[in-house]
Amino acid sequence: MPLPEAFDYAEPEGMGLELGDQVAAPLGPRLLRGVVVALRDAHGGNRPLKPVEAVLEEPRLPPGTVEFVQWAARYAVDWPGQPLAIALRGARAPKPRPLKVLEATGAAPARMTPAREKVLVAAASHAHSAAELARAAGVSAGVVKALADEGVLAVRYLEPEESFPTPDPSRPGPALSASQAAAAQALRDMVGERRFGVALLDGVTGSGKTEVYLEAAAAALGADPDAQVLVLLPEIALTQAVISRVADRFGAEPGEWHSDVAPPARRRVWEAVAAGRCRIVVGARSALFLPFRKLSLVVVDEEHDASFKQEEGFIYHARDLAVARAKIEDAAVVLASATPSLETLRNAEQGRYRWLRLEGRHGEARLPDIDVVDLRETPPEPGRWLSPPLVAAMAETYGRGEQTLLFLNRRGYAPLVLCKACGERLTAPDTDSWLVEHRYTGRLVCHLTGFSMPKPAACPHCGSKDSLVSIGPGVERVEEEARERFPDARIAVFSSDTVFDAREGKRLIEAMAAGEFDILVATQAAAKGHNFPNLTLVGVVDADLGLRGGDLRAAERTYQLLAQATGRAGRREKPGRALLQTWAPEHAVMAALKAQDRDAFVAAEMAEREAAGLPPFGRLAAVVASGTDPVQLEDFVRAMAQAAPNSPGVEVYGPADAPLGLVRGRRRKRFLVRSDRTVDLSAYMATWRARVKPPASVRVAIDIDPYSFL
Ligand code: ADP
Ligand code: ZN
Repeated sequence: MPLPEAFDYAEPEGMGLELGDQVAAPLGPRLLRGVVVALRDAHGGNRPLKPVEAVLEEPRLPPGTVEFVQWAARYAVDWPGQPLAIALRGARAPKPRPLKVLEATGAAPARMTPAREKVLVAAASHAHSAAELARAAGVSAGVVKALADEGVLAVRYLEPEESFPTPDPSRPGPALSASQAAAAQALRDMVGERRFGVALLDGVTGSGKTEVYLEAAAAALGADPDAQVLVLLPEIALTQAVISRVADRFGAEPGEWHSDVAPPARRRVWEAVAAGRCRIVVGARSALFLPFRKLSLVVVDEEHDASFKQEEGFIYHARDLAVARAKIEDAAVVLASATPSLETLRNAEQGRYRWLRLEGRHGEARLPDIDVVDLRETPPEPGRWLSPPLVAAMAETYGRGEQTLLFLNRRGYAPLVLCKACGERLTAPDTDSWLVEHRYTGRLVCHLTGFSMPKPAACPHCGSKDSLVSIGPGVERVEEEARERFPDARIAVFSSDTVFDAREGKRLIEAMAAGEFDILVATQAAAKGHNFPNLTLVGVVDADLGLRGGDLRAAERTYQLLAQATGRAGRREKPGRALLQTWAPEHAVMAALKAQDRDAFVAAEMAEREAAGLPPFGRLAAVVASGTDPVQLEDFVRAMAQAAPNSPGVEVYGPADAPLGLVRGRRRKRFLVRSDRTVDLSAYMATWRARVKPPASVRVAIDIDPYSFL
């Protein structure tokens, strides 16, 4: 509930409440689920309190989780109910059904055949359903059924939690290189201290960071039979790859947690984590709110990735909250990246984090050569997007039977549809954003709100027929061009429009890794983290794309993304190369990528941020006020500006019209607040928020450390 703080209730005689209990409690006329966040003796209070109705038969939230939820709410300047709802997401999902398995009863079959023997061997190894048993034994379903009918096998219902496997940390990992071994030892030492500590694991793509942090996980699991490990990843597609590697390393599937996991499976993970039976979780950002009983290690892989920032609902950055949670739980944190965020690098430089650097790529693999294609000198032909040097490189690569990745971080066919008769640019009806053309579906889509409509035959503005033209490329259009140029090549597209769920994504990634495609056209969803052994060419179609928005992190983010994308090439014995198509080859980002000189780029960025007092040298917070009534909104933001507390080291800018001035029919206004690092900016924002109450038509969202400035 959107309440500023927890309410007090009386504990009925003999109920025996404990911190973290889930209870039913009255609120007005309703009975709601609540969590006990504090217990105190209140004899002699003068207010009669309503009693708690009942303790729910649900797992108790561990004290660390209760504390973390409250800490997160305070940090994000939001109602505690928001993070609590995330923490209870698994508890509110439907329970999984028991598994029906067949087990040997001990009765001997009337007649033994080789097929029957195989079934009995498989049944003895572990619990299988009838279908799994037939598959494991390589026999027909009829053989299994006959054994069941005879009473040799009997049905048993396994409670799902029994089927959560225990990881075995003593299984050996690969032999580590000297620099990997040194980093792994430093992580083992940190984990061994059993208190809060943070390490930055810094190494180029393919340097073996995953292998190294799995060693830290092994140390944590091995040191304590109750210890739990959490691995956070920015993309669902990446969780799939890491789940397989964890399963290989420890001989047990980890718990999987992200928005694509079905509710009953989520509930199973949630309960097993709460009971301490699930010891490793691999998941997306919200896994951070799971009710860990004994969290020993949190790994944030690709820690620089902006997808860790949750921008809607409860606004938080999972990397920052991971560090906060680890502090509460006395746990260790590993932040892994080839291109760490400036925030993390600053902490490492200042010695607050241990800084572990891996040398180069593992084994024979070399970093790709990176070249810049100057589009001013060698532009593509009109209406095309691949320049002659890139096409020539693709032809060479294809001729050698090797793979190309074309990277363009833009979904759909064309980012803009324009009427050549009247100049109208097609936008969504209630939102300030251009409609993106999708050819697969024949629709125009607003990527911000999901609004879509069929592509009209005539211009909605002037009525001209056949006057609408598609401007610029998205992945679908690049695929079209690739097919025209390489008609015999096997080509696939990877974007969130062509890949609908985690399994589909995994299948496509595996097919690419197995060499089933010659060319993959992909957005960032496929450009991160994966190993494609036969991929030797990466073409970045529009290297300037991310620089155009011009916000605080535009250069940093472009550098990170392109370093990731180009890092996909040459991950095995074969050398790789990457070509960046750009109109601005002299830009610092392109120069740094070409020279592979991250440190020089970081130093220049740091100097600029320091001069401006921007993160990581200062703090930022944003306020977005939105409303359906423009007059009420204007009055409110004016009142808010007046109410801003005067505080040394804090500057308030705004209100200003947001660059995205209209979203889903709501007008938007923004404030930006900058403060020195020494200021408790969350406390400042909470004070400010409490001073002005918005009218019912206005919503206020506070964003601590904003990543979006739209
Ligand atoms: P990163 O996480 O830094 O991108 P990975 O851990 O994915 O790197 O390693 C890249 C590839 O090299 C993977 O296929 C991995 O299995 C392999 N690799 C890394 N270190 C070793 C090692 N010590 N022994 C064998 N293979 C390794
Ligand atoms: Zn028109």
